Amino acid sequence: MGLLAELTHRCPLRCPYCSNPLDLVRRGAELPTATWRRAFAEARTLGVLQVHLSGGEPTARPDLVELVAHCADIGLYNNLITAGVLLDERRLDALLEAGLDHVQLSLQDAGPSSADTIAGFSGGHEKKLELGRQAVARGLPLTINYVVHRHNIAALDEMIELAAAMGARRIEIAHAQYHGWALRNRERLMPTLTMVEQARAVVEAARARHQGRLVIDSVEPDYYAKWPKPCCGGWGARIICIDPSGRVLPCHAADTIPGLEVWSLRHHCLADIWADSPAFNAFRGSDWMEAPCTGCERAPTCKGGCRCQALAIVGRAEAADPACQLSPHHAAFRALAVQAAGAPSEPRFRYRQFAGRARREKG
Ligand code: SF4
Ligand code: SF4
Ligand code: SF4
Repeated sequence: MGLLAELTHRCPLRCPYCSNPLDLVRRGAELPTATWRRAFAEARTLGVLQVHLSGGEPTARPDLVELVAHCADIGLYNNLITAGVLLDERRLDALLEAGLDHVQLSLQDAGPSSADTIAGFSGGHEKKLELGRQAVARGLPLTINYVVHRHNIAALDEMIELAAAMGARRIEIAHAQYHGWALRNRERLMPTLTMVEQARAVVEAARARHQGRLVIDSVEPDYYAKWPKPCCGGWGARIICIDPSGRVLPCHAADTIPGLEVWSLRHHCLADIWADSPAFNAFRGSDWMEAPCTGCERAPTCKGGCRCQALAIVGRAEAADPACQLSPHHAAFRALAVQAAGAPSEPRFRYRQFAGRARREKG
């Protein structure tokens, strides 16, 4: 169904919940334009309908216009997922001319001061608002993405109204997922159950208010849930993720799973990777499941939940997602969330950064 193309891990922002891996791919290791073009053509042949041009910040790639034109030429619906601070009007026009179908713009909060603090990038919020205005003025469908956590959840109503005022057609609200960078910031980001319940009420009221004009997708957090969410329609079932170096993954966070044999576009074609790579086959179907998932009547829809969360909390990717109340680790998982949410609120995030810079700053 969808291809997530992480064109680069470079990004001027430093969000403390970034879903990129801790070990970021450097510019010199990024795939060349020709290999991305090949990947998109192979994806189209495989039946992929949509490509999400993401990162890092995809507009940091000088070949972005060429890649968008290629996707448009071969009939791939293309969606640019951007932080919006590197894109000027001239380049937006060039992307539009090339056949850009949709823009998904991330905002960090409703107001500039808090948004820029969360992003670790001064002046970013105003630039994002300007890009949103330019996209809507050109008739591009606009989705606003919000990652929600303790530092912005109380402003969710204002955030929704901001997106509506910008002319967005859709809002995607997701709670921070505690892998990688967010795991390092769990005590700084985790909201309380009360905050999560208030946010749910805010979303329901906003949906009623904006019915017929604005679609609001909201993904509930796992840590206060009773049942896990199914992972992307199943591991290796609907989604392909390609990292900037060409490694092809069934999930953007799958690199956290040790021992997973990941194949690269540099050595294989996409069809072979999809069908035969050990990473894609590791958790396909249900043969890998263990108790309590084996024989569970929810397994066909739940798929055992999130493999990366099982690894992060239980220590084994084969285990049932601890968000499931049938998991022997569920109570400990909930207790972790309650403990993290009760920790004193600290504005000092551990920001995302490249390892070299981290070492230099430490030195
Ligand atoms: S989450 Fe933030 S730091 Fe990570 S790629 Fe997106 S904008 Fe950049
Ligand atoms: S036991 Fe496993 S399959 Fe059943 S609901 Fe829980 S996580 Fe899903
Ligand atoms: S394994 Fe987890 S992190 Fe990866 S796509 Fe599925 S739910 Fe998301």
